[in-house]
Amino acid sequence: MKKILGISLVTLLVASVMTCLLYFPFGLVKQVDNQPTKLSKQAENKVVTKGSQSISTAVSTIPEKQENQAKWVKSDQPIKFPILMYHHIADVVGGNTLFVPASEFKMEMMALKKAGYYTLSPDEALRVLTANEKPADKIVWVTFDDGYKNAQQAAAPILSELGMKGSFFIITGMVGNEDKMTQESLLEMKKNPLISLESHTVSHIDLQYATPNEASRQLTESKTYLDQLLHQNTSVICYPSGRYNDQTGDIATKAGYQLGLTTQPGLASRADGLFALHRVRVSYGQTESSFMSLIGN
Ligand SMILES: [Zn+2]
Repeated sequence: MKKILGISLVTLLVASVMTCLLYFPFGLVKQVDNQPTKLSKQAENKVVTKGSQSISTAVSTIPEKQENQAKWVKSDQPIKFPILMYHHIADVVGGNTLFVPASEFKMEMMALKKAGYYTLSPDEALRVLTANEKPADKIVWVTFDDGYKNAQQAAAPILSELGMKGSFFIITGMVGNEDKMTQESLLEMKKNPLISLESHTVSHIDLQYATPNEASRQLTESKTYLDQLLHQNTSVICYPSGRYNDQTGDIATKAGYQLGLTTQPGLASRADGLFALHRVRVSYGQTESSFMSLIGN
């Protein structure tokens, strides 16, 4: 009887240890959820379904070359690089040039990858422009205006799959509108280390004709919204419709921004000013070669 009791106790002990071992790793995963740099090398796909809306966020690790082995090299010549401008990532509606189908977008990102392009984060773009040094021979900054839900749902997973970075410009007063990202989706995207969320003002105001007070209010309030929601220091303002005036850069600087993006066509260059950076508009209907020639290849 004593022996049977002893065996039972041992069995119980083994079972307890097994249970701990089984559950402990899950506890760990949950804890590192908010620390994207500690995610495993394996791509992690999450699908959150909310009502009829399905948010899919694929989180993958930044390729080691991008994360750890990037060697920043100073350049003798002023560095210029393309900032790609996208809006909707969806099938084209009524010939609207603000739409690029997801299949085309993926083809374009794969073409960049194949050509050896390194995708920049806002911080890296700032470093390139201010220190005139770059982390790779070919660099590009991929941007999306207006915070469309379709850009989040279609483009973010493609970027994640390919280990490429992208920046989305959010109209903070329109968060949650029918075709725009919701607050929940912004928070979900923020967990992805490849994604950056920056400002596109509060109401998509025309900064060229806004009074300085109104411009200042729009830049400050949108930054505060993103800073507080996402616990970040929002550093980029993308001017709605690319419109700005001589005072906009100063107003943006006072509001705490470090870079301002326009829709002026061309490569980004320090010579244009950190608050008047040019971009390359990508319209639908590109082939791989027409797309690459857009950015000078
Ligand atoms: Zn816009």
